[in-house]
Amino acid sequence: MLGTLEPDWHKYVEFHIKVLGCRFCQANLDDLQSQSQETQQEAFQARIMESTIGFLSRPM
Ligand SMILES: [Zn+2]
Repeated sequence: MLGTLEPDWHKYVEFHIKVLGCRFCQANLDDLQSQSQETQQEAFQARIMESTIGFLSRPM
């Protein structure tokens, strides 16, 4: 189960944080690190999905 989606969103977030310095992803990461690991991945993916839609709908 784990690992199917992880590479994609992990790359996405890593790119945002390290390359773009995205505060949104960093804040999410910090926030989620204080949650349990099970809810962590679920919530993180959901938020990234939302943010991706947001990012795609506006110019960089
Ligand atoms: Zn981001």
